Amino acid sequence: MIAEKIYLIPTSVNEAIKMATDNLGSFKYLAGGTDVMVNRFQGNEESPCLIDISKINELKGITKEKDFLRIGALEILEELKFNTDIKAEFPMLIEAALTVGAPLLRKTATIGGNVLCENRCLFYNQSKWWREAVGYCLKCDGDICIATQGKNACFSELVSDTAPALIAMDAEIEILDVDGAKRVKLEDIYTGDGVAPRNLSETAILTAILLPLGREFKTDFHKLRERESLEFTSLTSAVAIDKNGKLKIALSGVDPKAVVVEGTVEDNRAALIKKAIKGGRTVDNDMYSRKYRREMISVYLNRSFEKLGI
Ligand SMILES: Cc1cc2nc3c(=O)[nH]c(=O)nc-3n(C[C@H](O)[C@H](O)[C@H](O)COP(=O)(O)OP(=O)(O)OC[C@H]3O[C@@H](n4cnc5c(N)ncnc54)[C@H](O)[C@@H]3O)c2cc1C
Repeated sequence: MIAEKIYLIPTSVNEAIKMATDNLGSFKYLAGGTDVMVNRFQGNEESPCLIDISKINELKGITKEKDFLRIGALEILEELKFNTDIKAEFPMLIEAALTVGAPLLRKTATIGGNVLCENRCLFYNQSKWWREAVGYCLKCDGDICIATQGKNACFSELVSDTAPALIAMDAEIEILDVDGAKRVKLEDIYTGDGVAPRNLSETAILTAILLPLGREFKTDFHKLRERESLEFTSLTSAVAIDKNGKLKIALSGVDPKAVVVEGTVEDNRAALIKKAIKGGRTVDNDMYSRKYRREMISVYLNRSFEKLGI
């Protein structure tokens, strides 16, 4: 692991953005650090400057605001289960958060870091000497994608477990950057390009996640992984139906971005499932095969539709 040359600890978002602007091209924000630090140990992240945003109080707290529940980006995954508003209106978020890694990890990991955690691939998340031995890949200075042997696209997967749950419940995010604040749908930040999986600028800070109140979501959530603890997802599937019959499916683990299918409870089940499977550019870059993961999309969605009575 490389030694940090600069470690900065801002106490406000504006100060953090200023520090980021002063260190453009050579810094990384650090929240819980459970993703960043592992990537540094593996030599996949080597920024000489770390900006530790964990002391910024304005990024903490869960508050009701008009039609939305506002969850600060630094809220800790393990603690979401104690919030009565999340428990009452968005229990799927708690379910998703509690599938992330293992208890120790969840006590440090933040929700902002979770939706922004780095994409993963069997051929990328390896030690430096392993990656060097195979000639590297598109995501780390190589010429080809090892999974597909292609030259044009990297298929490293979005592995966030809370992202599908949040997207299915129409979450938006609040972003603060040098040019001010903006609010976008969570799914819109994922590009689908495994090398640069998010379209946020380097200095942008995710300040909060906003969930719409009063929609009375009925939800179902599934995660495919080899062990019930510690493992990253091979497929995470979230389905939400609101009180007006609007249905939204969101998947991670099967594409560089979140796969999103929207419809209503009146729609044909098989057609929705087909759309979800087709939406994922799933390749053999995971412990489970492409074929199996695509089949499991159908299994999980059928289970969800049964449970939700559509
Ligand atoms: C053994 C192990 C198992 C894991 N299993 C899972 C799993 O099952 N599911 C899963 O989803 N993840 C898993 N992870 C990955 C990681 O622990 C989680 O995604 C975690 O939620 C990341 O949050 P963090 O606060 O630690 O993020 P950090 O590591 O601090 O940051 C992650 C990324 O987000 C950026 N960032 C963080 N906060 C902000 C912000 N507010 N504004 C702008 N940028 C920001 C950082 O610069 C970095 O790029 C696992 C990690 C390990 C080590």
